[in-house]
Amino acid sequence: MTDQFVFTPLDEIEKIYNELKVTFASGKSRPIPYRRYQLIQLAYMLKDNIKLFEDTLAADLGRPQLEARMLDIDPSLVEIKLTLSSFEKWAKQESAPFSINFSAMRPVIRKEPKGVVLIISPFNYPLFLTIPLMASAIAAGNAVIIKPSENTPATTTLLANLAEKYLDTSLIRVIKGGVTETTKLLEYTWGHILYTGGGKIGKLIAAAGAKTLSPVSLELGGKSPVFIDSKCDLKMAAKRLLWGKAANAGQTCVAPDYIIVQQDFQDKFVEALQESYREFYPDKASAPGQMSRLVSQQAFNRVNNLLKNTNGTIVIGGDTDEGTKYIGPTVVKDVKPEDCLMSEEIFGPILPIMPVNSIDEGLAYVNAHDHPLSVYVFSQDSAYKATIFDNTQSGSAMANETIIHPAVYGLPFGGTGPSGSGYHTGKYGFDMFTHLRSSLDSPGWLDMLLGFRYPPYTTAKIKAMGRFMNPSLPARPKGPPEERVSRHSWSKWFTFFLALALAGGLMKRQSKT
Ligand code: NAD
Repeated sequence: MTDQFVFTPLDEIEKIYNELKVTFASGKSRPIPYRRYQLIQLAYMLKDNIKLFEDTLAADLGRPQLEARMLDIDPSLVEIKLTLSSFEKWAKQESAPFSINFSAMRPVIRKEPKGVVLIISPFNYPLFLTIPLMASAIAAGNAVIIKPSENTPATTTLLANLAEKYLDTSLIRVIKGGVTETTKLLEYTWGHILYTGGGKIGKLIAAAGAKTLSPVSLELGGKSPVFIDSKCDLKMAAKRLLWGKAANAGQTCVAPDYIIVQQDFQDKFVEALQESYREFYPDKASAPGQMSRLVSQQAFNRVNNLLKNTNGTIVIGGDTDEGTKYIGPTVVKDVKPEDCLMSEEIFGPILPIMPVNSIDEGLAYVNAHDHPLSVYVFSQDSAYKATIFDNTQSGSAMANETIIHPAVYGLPFGGTGPSGSGYHTGKYGFDMFTHLRSSLDSPGWLDMLLGFRYPPYTTAKIKAMGRFMNPSLPARPKGPPEERVSRHSWSKWFTFFLALALAGGLMKRQSKT
């Protein structure tokens, strides 16, 4: 941790890129045992150095030990372990589905690495948004360059040093740097670029990828709304929301950004949040080991200014300390749509509550803005949950939970539109770094069936071609399908009760006879 944070020199970046290209072309990264060895090394790189990583996360983000383990270190280890147990299966070539016309050509899908790939990571989860992605890229057989954030200098330096010690540097490298170094990296052609960070920079990355025709995935952010139903489990909702907002000092891409609640339920909901706040922080939230800090002075100033300029009413917290970049968990009620807290992704521990007169007003507000990374709903009523999920668009749709879904194995993680494109974690990460290479091996005897393709073209050959292709379509429909009239499934219930009444009547008649 005492190591100095020195950026990788630009001419070295050029050398590293070229070296990785040459090694990738040699085929060294492809054999399954090689990939397995590097993955295990990656896991031990983390496991052997847990204490050091806890220390760097504390130095960079003031991370409490529990958050360092639960949000970065342990989920990264779990991801590598699960990748290790499945990647061989994912890497197997697949046969195309049977087709009477083409199966004789033995069509298969080869799972091939994309080449040298670039992973640009953000500061907020310096391990979880770096190491599992490295694992996906390695499992898929690629060479990898990682560019972690310059805003977490201690963790980035440790990662770079350990990667040299544990991993094959002819195929896996960490570049230390900021804008200049990343801009240099973006001049090259990549098998794939995966960028995680804010949307403004995301546009620059997409434009750079377009220049070299490198495929790009963008994992971005946005304002993730939370709909609170008056029929929710109030205590649970308050606890999970306050935790989801306070964890990592709100610097989480899927943090609940703001609350939408029916006007006449707002105060009851605030009381529940206040109760959770007292339960969570019997001493001060600023006590050692309880709250992460804002990553930089600039980040502190931005979030602090939002707090100073809001016209809402602070009902929890509001305490700040510039010297230690501390902002306590804060809840602001009666926030209007035009308030500064609603103008940008907060990315800090402030939770605004925007009261509405109806669920439709809340939906209209959300749908008039960028598709967020997550939409949350707290309710025990399935019709309410369905109304929110069916009438919004977002990267993910979560009921009665906050922020943990990126770590839920088997679920793809990614945004939609302005919150990003592409998916990762588990097999989805492997697929992102894998080229599906179509392949077939056609036997000579097939020309007995496909000879019609060769000139000279004749009427008989056109007929033969028609017989071969023969696209049989479904019967022509009588008209468009009936539109769904109701958002709720009342008709299902009506049918159920009708069936119940009929069955009851039938049983009565039987017992009389
Ligand atoms: P950041 O400042 O750490 O930057 C992210 C990366 O972009 C860094 O590696 C940085 O070096 C690089 N970068 C910065 N300026 C650049 C430039 N001009 N050209 C090229 N590269 C540049 O992190 P950030 O952007 O502040 O991250 C916060 C944002 O990321 C939030 O919006 C958050 O919601 C989003 N985020 C999304 C996810 C996700 O998985 N969808 C995860 C975490 C964070």
